[in-house]
Amino acid sequence: MQTHEKTFRVRNFIGGRWEEHDGLSAEPVYDPATGRVIAETPLSTREEVDRAVRAAEEAFPRWAATPVVERARLLFRFKMLLEERFEELRDLVTLENGKDAKDAAGEVRRGIEVVEFACGMPTLLMGETVRDVARGIDNVSWRYPLGVVAAIAPFNFPCMIPLWTLPVAIGAGNTYILKPSERTPLCSQRLGELLIEAGLPEGVFNIVNGARDAVNGILEHPGIKAVSFVGSKPVAEHVYRTGCAHGKRVQALAGAKNSMIVMPDAVLEKAVPNIISSAYGNAGERCLAGSVLVAVGSGEEQDRLVRKVREAAASLKVGPGYEEESELTPLIRDSHRERVKSYIDLGEEEGAEVVLDGREPPRGGGFFMGPTILDRVTGEMRVAREEIFGPVLSVVRVRTLDEAIEFTNASPFGNACSIYTESGAAVRHWRERIEAGMLGVNVGVAAPMAFFPFNGIKDSFYGDLHATGKDGVRFFTENKVEISRFFSDPDDVMPAVAYPEEAGA
Ligand code: NAD
Repeated sequence: MQTHEKTFRVRNFIGGRWEEHDGLSAEPVYDPATGRVIAETPLSTREEVDRAVRAAEEAFPRWAATPVVERARLLFRFKMLLEERFEELRDLVTLENGKDAKDAAGEVRRGIEVVEFACGMPTLLMGETVRDVARGIDNVSWRYPLGVVAAIAPFNFPCMIPLWTLPVAIGAGNTYILKPSERTPLCSQRLGELLIEAGLPEGVFNIVNGARDAVNGILEHPGIKAVSFVGSKPVAEHVYRTGCAHGKRVQALAGAKNSMIVMPDAVLEKAVPNIISSAYGNAGERCLAGSVLVAVGSGEEQDRLVRKVREAAASLKVGPGYEEESELTPLIRDSHRERVKSYIDLGEEEGAEVVLDGREPPRGGGFFMGPTILDRVTGEMRVAREEIFGPVLSVVRVRTLDEAIEFTNASPFGNACSIYTESGAAVRHWRERIEAGMLGVNVGVAAPMAFFPFNGIKDSFYGDLHATGKDGVRFFTENKVEISRFFSDPDDVMPAVAYPEEAGA
């Protein structure tokens, strides 16, 4: 049977046991391409969160005392299992999220790259040393895990986003609770099964499914030391405030509104397909999606760009992610599709020109929409400022690069920004002034590799240390800084030391 014809069971995973969810309320999980119910997510309460914390607390001392090379070996085994099940995971992503096979494969690959990064944990956990800070005195730092940590995930990358934190947190010696999105819980179930197969001890990794109650249970639980959140801005703000108020370390990655600035010298035959894939890939449901096209230059140059982008967008084939030729896949839920449509209505009311209108679903069954372009959008319009998270591209027309930067910097968000140009001088001018944490030069989806931080700024991020890269390791560890000296004469203690040759080595 194909993945998209199956139904699935979603269970909590606590202390090494999969739990049936009798008695819990549940929420349906849909295949966005057909609207078919494929599973039900149990909506856990504080009680399940509490049991997961206790299981993770019990597992912590032994896991933290497991040598880092052994924890890394487990991650190597996990990585091999992820490679073996690569296609299965890719198809699960397509099923529960709706994105096409190419995007789903990219997501799984990006997730595996974080596991590969975390396989280097023996090196990543190295402290710092300075010998002889005064005569005979050394100063060193040691890294320690925090204890029980938790991660709360969004729907749009059900495999990759749990993997942003899971391998780093457990590789560093923490025990971990995952709260997947209630809309896309299936990949997390599979990750749990693969971790067991890799030999992870009971209680080191736990899953508590659910929504708001489970999240609040995590934020207020005194046993949880750190929370990593990824999701929309209002929830990120709530998570950051509540988690911090309860004494936790919190990183909260939030929403976005990313500009793609196109200079008059851009190589359009390369730039346009890239712009289309940034705006409409994964139906625009990406925090790195380019959702505003800022056309720089004369009216003629702007018209030429909009004409080419419109032509390419209009020719996108709308269809389910599991059909190879599909280029624009469905949205996550019907309610979300309605919200996206209401933004197109709003844009029209605000005075934008709808030059391509996707409101009428081009096919029935799932939660499909056509591609939309709103032209002549201006900075005061809400469609220029708010995250729509759908296949809607707004076009803002400006004369100069400085105007493009000024428009972009007026956004409260600061996740990503791309520029299309062949001019190094323009790139440098832009880089030095733009207020965004992830920059793409002729690259529409400016996703950093696993060894760099996922680096949103302004309202796209709440916290200090970002996810992945060295920031991720620092987020899940704390230091002890030791200063030491010894008073005895070495000769006095020598006889007590067994040298290798004396021990017969
Ligand atoms: P969401 O905020 O609706 O949900 C995220 C998580 O929060 C889910 O696990 C959900 O159960 C929980 N949640 C939802 N409402 C809650 C509430 N009122 N109280 C407590 N918890 C609640 O986000 P989503 O729709 O799943 O994901 C899309 C959003 O995520 C977009 O805004 C996108 O930009 C953002 N995102 C950001 C990044 C990034 O790196 N900055 C990456 C991916 C997605």
